[in-house]
Amino acid sequence: MWRPDSWQTRPLQQFPPYPDLPALQKATQELQRLPPLVTEAEIDNLQRQLADAAAGKRFLLQGGDCAESFADCNTDSITAKLKILLKMSLVLVHGLQKPIIRVGRIAGQYAKPRSDEFESRDEQVLPSYRGDLINGAEFDAGSRTPDPKRLLTGYGLASLTLNYIRALTESGFGDLSAAEHWDLSFVADSPRADEYRQVVSDVRRAIALMQTVAPAPAQRTEFFTCHEALHLHYESALTRPGRDHRWYNLSTHLPWIGMRTADLAGAHVEYMRGISNPVALKVGPKLPLDTLRRLCQALNPERLPGRLTLIHRYGADQIESLLPAAIQAIRADGMPVLWCADPMHGNTRTTTNGIKTRRFDDILRELESSFAIHHDCHSVLGGVHFEMTAEPVTECLGGASGLEEQDLERAYKSLVDPRLNGEQALEMALSIVRVSER
Ligand code: PEP
Ligand code: MN
Repeated sequence: MWRPDSWQTRPLQQFPPYPDLPALQKATQELQRLPPLVTEAEIDNLQRQLADAAAGKRFLLQGGDCAESFADCNTDSITAKLKILLKMSLVLVHGLQKPIIRVGRIAGQYAKPRSDEFESRDEQVLPSYRGDLINGAEFDAGSRTPDPKRLLTGYGLASLTLNYIRALTESGFGDLSAAEHWDLSFVADSPRADEYRQVVSDVRRAIALMQTVAPAPAQRTEFFTCHEALHLHYESALTRPGRDHRWYNLSTHLPWIGMRTADLAGAHVEYMRGISNPVALKVGPKLPLDTLRRLCQALNPERLPGRLTLIHRYGADQIESLLPAAIQAIRADGMPVLWCADPMHGNTRTTTNGIKTRRFDDILRELESSFAIHHDCHSVLGGVHFEMTAEPVTECLGGASGLEEQDLERAYKSLVDPRLNGEQALEMALSIVRVSER
């Protein structure tokens, strides 16, 4: 029988090597006493909207840092993250002509799965950085030792972040039609500059028109949160009873299972199958079709619309050979899913200098293929998933400002995966408008 802690009887992947297990137990118990971060009603509302997106009536925009850092829990950073997502969503509303569901990788995206347990530098070997929820990024033995107190700090900072997000989304962001929000000077050299400017000018005019027709100084903006449900002690401590004997993970609206923990017999699938949140599953090139089908069956046995989102991340070179069969298999099973494209994680590569990066063109190419394949298979691509930030970082190559390998070291801030910067993210939204048209 499922319980919030029944996962404890299953093999647990990605468990940090805590030196003090009683301290982990104590932190978990403290978390259990603290209030939830989100509500059952918000979660049910999101699930209904995701069902609409699967039916082509809405579109999901999911985005944010690969890993949030504790240090980024501050006014400027939160405001900027929200604004770029809002701007992208305004471009998408205009281009796709449907309501956008905004979901940030925020207020809890603090834990990272790692392929390598250890990292070596200058002949020193230390445990890998696993996200601020678990250990520190600095390369010294003290920082890299997993510390259970971080679970409480992470909970606290997620709560502060969400509190500020709620304040901002309740009271409006000011005039988003204002030119200061839409500086497109960076596209000057792009062959698509005119097209981009036209879209932005249309969007600004539409916002201005709306404000004239129905002046609403404090419009409420709906916004949801998501994170990878990786640290099951954290997730299950914030799992609480709801109506009708159901259980909800009240630390986030939309938890997902990452590629490294999508194990049918494992702890993560056991935990996720029992909660009533909508859940997402990352689908990568190494996941056999048969396992994908069984995972879907385990996660959505009642075949509820909106319950299961499949986030495919095959990579631009593999998507054409893998996605059509996946679409057909899921359809043959009668499994209702929302298909969402993550064009980031299958396109990671390392430069000759050993820097992890992604190319704007590969990301866009995978998106373009995603739309085309779903269209050809009479399926619906109902969402996109990006790793991005509003800051002018130099982590991904290309885009209108033409970032090159030698630019990467200038402002590479991500502690894990490379993100689109604010300009690249906005350009990506502008490009979706084009690649989705067929
Ligand atoms: C991620 O979303 O940061 C991630 C690790 O993704 P995946 O599980 O798809 O590799
Ligand atoms: Mn990532």
